[in-house]
Amino acid sequence: LAATCARPARRLACSATAMPFIDDRAASLQLAPPALAETDRKTRVVVLGSGWGAVSLIMNLDPAAFGEHGDYELVLVSPRNHMVYTPLLPSAVGGVVSETSIVESIRTLIEGKGIYYEARATNIDPFNRKLTLVKEYCEVCARKKAAGQAAGHHGHSEADHELTIPYDILICSVGAVNATFGIKGVQEHCFFLKTMEDAKTLRRHISKAIELAALPDVSPEQRKRMLNFVICGGGPTGVETAAELMDLVSEDIAHHMPQIKEDVSITLVDGMDNLLSSYDKEIQDYASSVFESSGIKLRMGCRVTQVLDGQLEVQTKEGKTDLIPFSTCVWAAGIAMHPLVASLKEKLPADLQTSRRGLLVDEHLRVVGSQGTIYCLGDAAVTGTTPQTTLPPTAQVAKQQGVYMAALLNRNKLALRPAFSAWPGRSSWPSYERDEHHAHDDDENAPDLVPLPEGTKPFSYFHMGALCYLGNHKGVMDLPFKTPFLRTLKGTLGGQTWKGLETIMQISHRTRWLVTHDWLRNAVFGRNISDI
Ligand code: FAD
Repeated sequence: LAATCARPARRLACSATAMPFIDDRAASLQLAPPALAETDRKTRVVVLGSGWGAVSLIMNLDPAAFGEHGDYELVLVSPRNHMVYTPLLPSAVGGVVSETSIVESIRTLIEGKGIYYEARATNIDPFNRKLTLVKEYCEVCARKKAAGQAAGHHGHSEADHELTIPYDILICSVGAVNATFGIKGVQEHCFFLKTMEDAKTLRRHISKAIELAALPDVSPEQRKRMLNFVICGGGPTGVETAAELMDLVSEDIAHHMPQIKEDVSITLVDGMDNLLSSYDKEIQDYASSVFESSGIKLRMGCRVTQVLDGQLEVQTKEGKTDLIPFSTCVWAAGIAMHPLVASLKEKLPADLQTSRRGLLVDEHLRVVGSQGTIYCLGDAAVTGTTPQTTLPPTAQVAKQQGVYMAALLNRNKLALRPAFSAWPGRSSWPSYERDEHHAHDDDENAPDLVPLPEGTKPFSYFHMGALCYLGNHKGVMDLPFKTPFLRTLKGTLGGQTWKGLETIMQISHRTRWLVTHDWLRNAVFGRNISDI
């Protein structure tokens, strides 16, 4: 009994977190730091995102520190209540793996460590440590939409979709968005491949296009046009998408609908001279030769200048403008800064946040200029000021950063907690937190209000190689250790290595089992070419 009564404030914090926030006032009444003794309340860690960085983090958190009796309370916010194993998204488009086989529920992953809110963060107030969230789903609006009515009615407005939550430590892992480079028509006429929804939409579209092209009233010219697939981007996503499409055509379409097989055309367009430009030269040349022999047309050195309805306008190296017709165009040309990240960057000192790709972080993944209260992982984070010191935006990097961040939290417990109360409505940092010297200091480690304990090791990345599937059971692996005799794995061995590693690296035993089952199902019965 004595133990229960000794920490009333902590119990108050626990009961408050167990309750979903109804509105901002209720939230601040129950959870605002001034209401609780600074030393007695739990440190509230809010994680944004349910992708590689965030999931790797929560999977590695110590349940003793984050559970009911731990020192932290964890809140994960993401519009998606699942994590997608992105490297197999192209295989989901090709119907090799089923969509449900490569997703894991956040509820399962966070169990016993914290709570999850299905919402999208729309604003970060770093000075008052508050987040504005917008609910991802609204029952009232969904009902009205189904009935064909406009959103909003008496007693229900846009404001009802919003809520505000406080944080002590924010971990931002919202990833990036598709880069369109401001090219006209990309958003309107192209398919993307970033989320599971994208993969589903694309797979269903391909299935419909194939079925339409097989109808008897379609002329040969129309059929050719309907089966004209163009992929923009010669990086791993574009290459694997083209490879999976070609496998689909050469194996399943050839078997079930041989009459249309010859009319299918797959073209890959890229402004660079080589495919997979970040890989070893040996792999670049090999990938081109595999694509050429499998019938995938390559339009290298072609910069897309505009996407029209059914036509891609490109500029060749020689300065010539060309039109490439398509019925389906997949845009896999790179990533850009997430709008939430861009808006946070705007609020931080411009002289410290100098990257145009994301949030510049220090060697401990703390957002530079955020006083040590915001950390950033994955595609949203920029780890250095030069291309040599910046890590690539890959799952491998995000995963390792998540593991590092979890260790930091597990080890340091309350030491990471900001020492100041942030609630009196600030719009900038108090002046003592930045001084003239630091404001003009080139050192990325801006002054931090929340110092890390001495001896905290910096994040260090261990590169484990890069894989890519090229189709026809062939693949490549850029090995992490190069020897004069062995620099890469290629061909069927590369393909088997890719398949084996993509199965082993799955997020859970459940998805590992499902993916293995899918490979077997595919080998015995073929792909799912239906639109379901
Ligand atoms: P993500 O994994 O993108 O997660 C972002 C999360 O944030 C999502 O859950 C999203 O719903 C959530 N979110 C978005 N907006 C908000 C918001 N406003 N508020 C809260 N949450 C939000 N990398 C490799 O290393 N190897 C590969 O083979 C590979 N293949 C790939 C294939 C494809 C098709 C794609 C698209 C990517 C591939 N990548 C690969 C790259 C890899 O997926 C990314 O680098 C990785 O996902 C980055 O992790 P992240 O946590 O930063 O972001």
